[in-house]
Amino acid sequence: MMKYVYFFGNGDADGDESMRAELGGKGANLAQMAKAPLSLPVPAGFTITTDVCQKYYELDRKYPDGLSSQVDEYLAKLESVMGKKLGDESDPLLVSVRSGAAISMPGMMDTILNLGLNDKAVLGLAKKTGNERFAWDAYRRFIQMYGDVAMGVEHAKFEDIIDEVKSHRGIKQDTELTTEELKEIVTKYKAMYKKEKGSDFPQDAKEQMWGAIGAVFGSWMNPRAIKYRKLNNIKEGALKGTAVTVMAMVFGNKGETSGTGVCFSRDPSTGDNVFMGEYLMNAQGEDVVAGIRTPQKLAQLEETNKAIYDELCQIRDRLEKHYHDMQDMEFTVEEGKLYMLQCRNGKRTGAAAVKMAVDMVKEGLIDKETAIMRVEPEQLNQLLLPQLDKEAVKKATEIASGLNASPGAGCGQIVFTAEEAEEWAKNGKKVLLVRKETSPDDIAGMAVSQGILTSTGGRTSHAAVVARGMGTPCVCGCSDVAFKDAETVIIKGKTYKKGDFLTIDGATGLVYEGQVAVKPATISGDLETFLGWADEIREKSERVTESGNRVKGFDIYANGDTPQNAIDAFRFGAMGIGLCRTEHMFFDEPKLTDFQKMIISEDTESRKANLAKILPHQQKDFYEIIKTMEGRPVTIRLLDPPLNEFIQAETDEQLTALAKKLGVDKEKLSRKVMQLAEHNPMLGHRGCRLAITYPEIYEMQVEAIARATAQLEKESKKHNVLIMIPNVVSYNEVEQIRKQAEAVIDKVNKEKGVNLKFQIGSMIEFPRAALSAGKIAKYADFFSFGTNDLTQTTFGFSRDDYGKFIESYLQQRILEDDPFATLDYEGPGALMEIAEEKGRTVNANLHLGICGEHGGDPASIHICYQIGLNYVSCSPYRVPLARLAGAQAVIEYEKNNK
Ligand code: PEP
Ligand code: MG
Repeated sequence: MMKYVYFFGNGDADGDESMRAELGGKGANLAQMAKAPLSLPVPAGFTITTDVCQKYYELDRKYPDGLSSQVDEYLAKLESVMGKKLGDESDPLLVSVRSGAAISMPGMMDTILNLGLNDKAVLGLAKKTGNERFAWDAYRRFIQMYGDVAMGVEHAKFEDIIDEVKSHRGIKQDTELTTEELKEIVTKYKAMYKKEKGSDFPQDAKEQMWGAIGAVFGSWMNPRAIKYRKLNNIKEGALKGTAVTVMAMVFGNKGETSGTGVCFSRDPSTGDNVFMGEYLMNAQGEDVVAGIRTPQKLAQLEETNKAIYDELCQIRDRLEKHYHDMQDMEFTVEEGKLYMLQCRNGKRTGAAAVKMAVDMVKEGLIDKETAIMRVEPEQLNQLLLPQLDKEAVKKATEIASGLNASPGAGCGQIVFTAEEAEEWAKNGKKVLLVRKETSPDDIAGMAVSQGILTSTGGRTSHAAVVARGMGTPCVCGCSDVAFKDAETVIIKGKTYKKGDFLTIDGATGLVYEGQVAVKPATISGDLETFLGWADEIREKSERVTESGNRVKGFDIYANGDTPQNAIDAFRFGAMGIGLCRTEHMFFDEPKLTDFQKMIISEDTESRKANLAKILPHQQKDFYEIIKTMEGRPVTIRLLDPPLNEFIQAETDEQLTALAKKLGVDKEKLSRKVMQLAEHNPMLGHRGCRLAITYPEIYEMQVEAIARATAQLEKESKKHNVLIMIPNVVSYNEVEQIRKQAEAVIDKVNKEKGVNLKFQIGSMIEFPRAALSAGKIAKYADFFSFGTNDLTQTTFGFSRDDYGKFIESYLQQRILEDDPFATLDYEGPGALMEIAEEKGRTVNANLHLGICGEHGGDPASIHICYQIGLNYVSCSPYRVPLARLAGAQAVIEYEKNNK
């Protein structure tokens, strides 16, 4: 019989931290904390494995055989360790039933506390503890939580009852409720429950326990958990599900010597090596996380209860040394005694992740490779978040301040519900979500907001934790924000309506009126150190490809079409430009008009005359980009898109205007537009096919490149330019275009008295090119994989139309990933491997890279490393991420090929 249940407590445990996949992060860490060498004070309990969750869904929400007897066995063990029985009328054992998957999904799944109470046990508990108020408070909490989570009674129905009792007495806090009022609430809760469910609130403790276990397993598939996995790229089926931990309750709500809190061994927002956290006296865990009361800072605990604070500090040190990572811990103090309820590697902002990784290497806690593996590439995006412009801040009106919960500057039109945020964002508006507090149901609205501002809740509240995970700026606990109605908030006496602009600075916690200017981030300090380590790892790397070729190093280039792109690329650490799409240079005037005139030319002479007008402008653009990159490779691609993209005249008015602008007869233009129209332009007259029909276009571009380079040469400035031919399907294209290009370069060399040589290479973006790469390699100095087109033509999915069906493919798991986002190893990836082998067989030094969108996707970067590419090229803002993902690919490859 498979073991489904693992016990922990009483100084020992069946499982340990290595069993995350089976026990979930929470269950595995509780087991580890309970046993030596950590031996921390952990309430006893047992964990039902994720295998059960997997089977539960396979069996259509039924449990596997043998589970119930194992649960009985370990419940009996728990009762014997605790010296109490579940459901006992005089001294009941109360338990919490908690969720926990292998990867932590904070707040997304369900938890039920105080389970085991009923009409009789509550009296026993009151008597046994001598604390009647506590017992009735626990019972009303249990009915509320169990009714909502396990039985689906709307949360608001319970809140309405509490609010009614509180307003009757004119009190605000739950802690002010008297025993009699709590009893009254319990009676009202039960009556409401019966009305809603048509039966009495369950009194049998075992029935309650199984109800809670079912609810937790069920919550694995609730919409917010599914959404969370989607947002965090956790594929359905990648994990077995959630484990369920049933654990003896300890109580933070037994009066003023009891309390509960959450703490972090380092600051999860900044990464500073300071112990921080929040707690509430006389409260249970959900009060801290839900942001109902704003908690106190951990530092205050040092003043009010030094012994507990010191014990916590010791535990913090031991856990960090044990796990070699920042820990997020939950604790409860029951009548002066400390218990640890949970520890896990804490979620952190991108900035904190980098700082902690760098600090821990310096402290000797981890090595550089571990540090590199610690940071999720996507997290780096947060460090590149725009910051408030310091000059603009001086002039801005500061209207409130709250807790700096998640860094970055967020500016948008204020909305007050997550649904509004989603709706407005869908209509292209930038929104700032302003809420009293957020709940897991708000996650989709939070994901589309520029920033989140809450009026209650601390740094560990739902809003703060989720915002940090998403990299969304967040200011929370901003008590100056008062909600007037569904359309209005009042901040320090001033009214702000839905749709008004506000700006928040998540790094300082300040809130400003209107829109405050933001500035791009730079790479410096810890991030520079960290990415420097990533660069070292990639530079030193070496691997042998499937085809047996030895490849050294793995560079990161950027795709950039403008001098500004080149500046950004350089700033973010790109080693070169892997793709300069020259067509983007034709989109602004006066080049556009000349280009359009060239397109509608009736003969070669007039085409050449128009191209000659464009040449100096192109030359200037090229000059700037090449100069900015200071001798690093700049790969310039010759014209790629179909010409009709530049002549758009769908209506008669557009045609009239265009004819006027170009100074041509409208009828003639109309005929030309018709001639240029194509059924399938992406597979039409584009790329090097244009140069086969009109060689003068590429000749002009090559001349502009050669002249720009000659100019830099004369100025003794560094340059390293590569010329790239797009849409190649045959070596004959490359041979012919290369010959024409070399003739132009010779001409410029003679004219300018220089001796420039350019590498000329081919894009590989169609299956035929990949399959005949051996022949193409005879005429190409390098290959660059255009995986956008390669994906399009391998799959036969139109780049422009696949949006209509891809969601169905993903939902039905026909495909695991969107192939335009993550390189498909079996399709385009296999063709790249063939091209690598064939190409390098002919030219052992053939330089290989990728310039499709996949070059900025971490999973694709891993595949590119494995295939043996020399570099990946991606958009400038993804360069830091690619520098890191590339280093991670090296480390992973080395681990797998030891
Ligand atoms: C590609 O096809 O991957 C590529 C980089 O070219 P474009 O996206 O410009 O077609
Ligand atoms: Mg392409």
